[in-house]
This record gives sequence, C-alpha cells and structure tokens, in this order.
Amino acid sequence: MKAVEFEYFRASTLDDAINLLDSYQEDAKILNGGQSLLPVLNMRLARPKYVIDINEITALGNITIENDVLKIGAVVRHNTAETSELIKEKVPLLAQALPHVGHTQIRNRGTLVGSIVHADPSAEVPLIALLLDAYLEVTSKESERIIPITEFYFGYMLTDLQPYELVTSVNFPLRKLPSGGNRGTAFVEVARREGDFAIVEAACQMDINAEGKIAEVRLGIGGVGPAPLRLVEVEAFLNGKEPSSALFKEASQKITEFLEPDEDPFVPQEYRVEVAKRFTYKVLEDASVDAALEKGARQE
Ligand SMILES: Cc1cc2nc3c(=O)[nH]c(=O)nc-3n(C[C@H](O)[C@H](O)[C@H](O)COP(=O)(O)OP(=O)(O)OC[C@H]3O[C@@H](n4cnc5c(N)ncnc54)[C@H](O)[C@@H]3O)c2cc1C
Repeated sequence: MKAVEFEYFRASTLDDAINLLDSYQEDAKILNGGQSLLPVLNMRLARPKYVIDINEITALGNITIENDVLKIGAVVRHNTAETSELIKEKVPLLAQALPHVGHTQIRNRGTLVGSIVHADPSAEVPLIALLLDAYLEVTSKESERIIPITEFYFGYMLTDLQPYELVTSVNFPLRKLPSGGNRGTAFVEVARREGDFAIVEAACQMDINAEGKIAEVRLGIGGVGPAPLRLVEVEAFLNGKEPSSALFKEASQKITEFLEPDEDPFVPQEYRVEVAKRFTYKVLEDASVDAALEKGARQE
C-alpha cells in the first residue's frame, strides 16, 4: 500500500515549521527521520493532508551542554548520538541503549525526538528519558513549554503533545554523584530478531556512595505496559541498602504487581512478566558491577 496524497512542505527554519503547523494543525504531520511516520503513512494508519519536513532546520541538529543539562536537538539522529563522545561520557545509560534501536539503516535516519514522540512502549529512548528525568522543549506559534517525560505519556502511543506543537529538543539533567561515590549503568533487551523492537527491555542507573550503599537507583522496564515504566517503589526499597545478589533477587520479585502487559497473540503475558523479573535482576546486578569497576572514573 502507499500513502494517500498529501502536500509536502520542506521547512527551512523553525518559524516556517511552526507557522505551517499552526495553519494546518490536525491535518498536518511533522516528518523527522521518517522511520516510523513513513510506514504509518504507507499503511494508511495516518492520512495527513500536509507533511512538514523539518530535516533542514539545522538549528535543531546540535548536541550541547549548558547549565548541567545535555540538550539533544530534535533532528539529531540515533547514529549521531550513538557515536557522540559527549553522550558516552555524560549519559552512559543512553549510549548503552542506542545501539539496540533498530538496524544501522534505521539509526542513520531516525531521531531520538521522533522516537519519543512516536511513543512505542518498547522503544529504548523513551525508557531512558523517563529514568533520567529528561524533559522536552516544545514550541508553537503562541507559546513555548517544557514537558517532563514523566508527564508526557498517558496511554498506548498517547502523548501530551498538541497538534500545533513541535518538540525542539530532549534534555537530560546531569546529576552529580555523591562525594566519593561511583555510578554504574546497565541495559538489556530481548527481541525476536536483532534490530526488531524489543519484547521486553530493562535499564538501570545505580549510584553507590562512599560507604558502599546504594545512594540512588533508577530502574525501569519497557514492553510490559502501555508506556515505559519506572519502578519507583522498587527503587525506594533498594535505596540506602548495601548491594547484594540476595537484595536484587528480592527486588526483582517485587516488580510483578506494577506490570500490565497487553494480551498479545504472539507473546504470552506470563512470558513478558517472567522476562521482566529476570531482566530486573540482571540490570541491578550489572549496574552494581559496573559501578564497582568504574569506581571514581565518572566522578564530576
Ligand atoms: C524496521 C524498523 C525497526 C525499528 N526498530 C526500532 C527499535 O528497535 N527501537 C525503536 O525505538 N525504534 C525502532 N524503530 C523506529 C525508529 O527508531 C524511528 O526512528 C523512531 O521511532 C521515530 O523517529 P523518526 O525521527 O524516524 O520520526 P518520524 O518517523 O519522522 O516521526 C515519528 C512521529 O513523531 C512525530 N514527530 C517527529 N519529530 C517531531 C517533532 N520534532 N515534533 C513533533 N512531532 C514530531 C511525527 O509527526 C510522527 O508522528 C524501527 C523502525 C523500523 C522501520
């Protein structure tokens, strides 16, 4: 199948794009990397009358750090972020997750912001953005606003973005380590084939303090509900305790009450829940080992 006919605009500035969006609102769609939008158009799951291409807005193509916040512009591609030394150093959990996004060809075109807006519950970038308290900068003809990722998703592929709004960047606040502490990160997923969307994925960032206790853990799962899930209750159970395999085992048993996997003819709910438990254990264990290995190396 092919897309229904639409009028194509190539915006060269942010003002062009938001003026067009303001004029056409629900009848328009932003074209970013096109790796999700084009299949959706070709399957006729969306039938916009106008498509606004933002790829030539170079002002949206930067990765910068300002005031302890790492900002990734809306048209920065997965591949650019994956090879960014700044991201590897400052947001290692994101760097670990990015190679799992589709295939090289997908990452050469697709963008982090496009992935966040598309809102697939198994996508890697939304999960990491949720765990690290990222926020979106959003603009429209009338106003600008900030949307924390914690408030962005409210159902299966449903977001708080309005049809006249354009996301200009995703921003990751850089959190300092406790004095004398060290940080570890881990990401794991399972997919039917390499490059497919994950069936289940898990991510963890763990800060260990100078006394060897967990100062702050961030733990999340994707693919087990309508949107990525941060396990704040399990984090609270872990914070302040000494890391150990027994503790991580206990934590992984606690997660089931928070999971709401969909009925799926191909993947039984029990499978997703069992994998989520095992992945929780694995990322906790791997992040604590990573923190031990990296002791001191990532202190700011
Ligand atoms: C075969 C295949 C495998 C894939 N595997 C994975 C995977 O394993 N993991 C994964 O996460 N993704 C996967 N993807 C999707 C890929 O990561 C996409 O790049 C991503 O979902 C969307 O980014 P994009 O830049 O291509 O956005 P587009 O496809 O251009 O847009 C996606 C949606 O976001 C909207 N949008 C985009 N940018 C903005 C903006 N700045 N402001 C407002 N609205 C905007 C568009 O209007 C559209 O509705 C896969 C895709 C394919 C085709």
